Amino acid sequence: MNICVIGTGYVGLVTGCVFSDLGNEVVCVDNNPDKIAMLERGEMPIYEPGLEELVKRNVDDRRLRFTMDMAEAVEYSDVVFICVGTPPKENGDPDMTYIQEAAKGIARSLNRYKVIVNKSTVPVGTGNMVREIIETNRHRNVDFDVVSNPEFLREGSAIKDTLEPDRIVIGARNQVVAMKILELYAPLERPMIITDVASAEMIKYASNAFLATKISFANSIANICDAVGADVIQVIKGMGSDSRIGRAFLNAGLGYGGSCFPKDSSALVRTAEKAGVNFKVLKAVMDVNKEQPMLFVDLLRVAMDGSFKGKKIGILGLAFKPNTDDMRDAKSVEIIGKLLAEGAEIQAYDPIAIENTKRIFPHICYTENAYDTAEGADALMIVTEWNEFKLLNMERIKSVMKTPLLFDGRNVYDPLQLRRLGFEYHCIGRTKAVLNGK
Ligand code: NAD
Repeated sequence: MNICVIGTGYVGLVTGCVFSDLGNEVVCVDNNPDKIAMLERGEMPIYEPGLEELVKRNVDDRRLRFTMDMAEAVEYSDVVFICVGTPPKENGDPDMTYIQEAAKGIARSLNRYKVIVNKSTVPVGTGNMVREIIETNRHRNVDFDVVSNPEFLREGSAIKDTLEPDRIVIGARNQVVAMKILELYAPLERPMIITDVASAEMIKYASNAFLATKISFANSIANICDAVGADVIQVIKGMGSDSRIGRAFLNAGLGYGGSCFPKDSSALVRTAEKAGVNFKVLKAVMDVNKEQPMLFVDLLRVAMDGSFKGKKIGILGLAFKPNTDDMRDAKSVEIIGKLLAEGAEIQAYDPIAIENTKRIFPHICYTENAYDTAEGADALMIVTEWNEFKLLNMERIKSVMKTPLLFDGRNVYDPLQLRRLGFEYHCIGRTKAVLNGK
């Protein structure tokens, strides 16, 4: 099948690659000339494990190409995927400008029947909106269908998630239309869920809101554990072993970030409000998530005698999670912003995300590895749990720090071992329990 993918971000580029790898002819469109130029040179505009090889293979085999010419790409294709961004506006609503622009572009070049598939995360009703925009702006009276096919991939494992999704959700006005997209996914041999368009749009938001809820729930339990002397790691293990609860996403830490959970939670609260529903649970989830990193910063301040002024603080991990360079809503941004505002000096390291962080904090010191981050530091904080931080030589870390104060925001280390090495070690939801057991 001939496929056009509009938007070559995390979702669009991976979707385009995977569909081309399955034997389709794919053209990926973006209106960002720098991205298209990079892709045409074989360089990746984003970091995603395995992506470069996949792009290269399919470009070499002439099944995948990149363009800024939306008209040519749309005319060429039988199926058009919309994968543009839906970033949050001030009021929490998603900004639908990019979707609207994409829909207008499709309308102008509609030359024969096509299925327009919305993969971006969009509020209920967007399918109808896209349909109306195309009907109003099309130059030729050509038929088309709009399908919702929300994306569930995770950055850092996007290719694997796209090849092996837990389920594929297809929201269409009838089975015949749904079958056209189902055929595209059939080679993956994964479970397919066919719904109406509105329900498919809702499934995406409800899923992300529920995962965000698990994280904020785990963090609230962690904060109680810290206060009463229980160990959240053991508690979560005990809870997660219950098949009704499940272990996934039940993690205590600094809270969730990234381009999806924060914005999708706000968007769902706004959808609920507009429908006259007060989504109290999700509002509380968002509040907990906002407070969580600041509670940790407060503890650090106490450990540093009440002030960050003139203190050198090392930050390990900047990306919103491991294996990505994505800094959108990363906890490191909130934490570094707060520490700088209170007079701290920051030296930071991340295996991949330093270039993106420089756009947010151009003036902090970036180091080449974790040991340099610890050099001369009054405290060290783990913000993103990259694998390479898990097996650091902690004796060496301690020997280069000014004060061996370690704040582990992702519960990466064994508290007893670190204390034995002479660190003052703080983590999430187990600090008191471990001290008691000492
Ligand atoms: P992104 O910002 O990385 O990429 C979006 C791309 O669309 C950009 O390259 C931009 O230049 C391009 N674009 C915008 N308007 C365009 C237009 N009119 N024509 C051509 N290109 C245009 O975004 P993303 O992370 O890939 O997310 C895309 C959508 O998928 C969002 O709605 C997001 O919520 C959803 N989603 C993202 C993830 C994720 O992990 N990133 C997972 C699931 C769903």
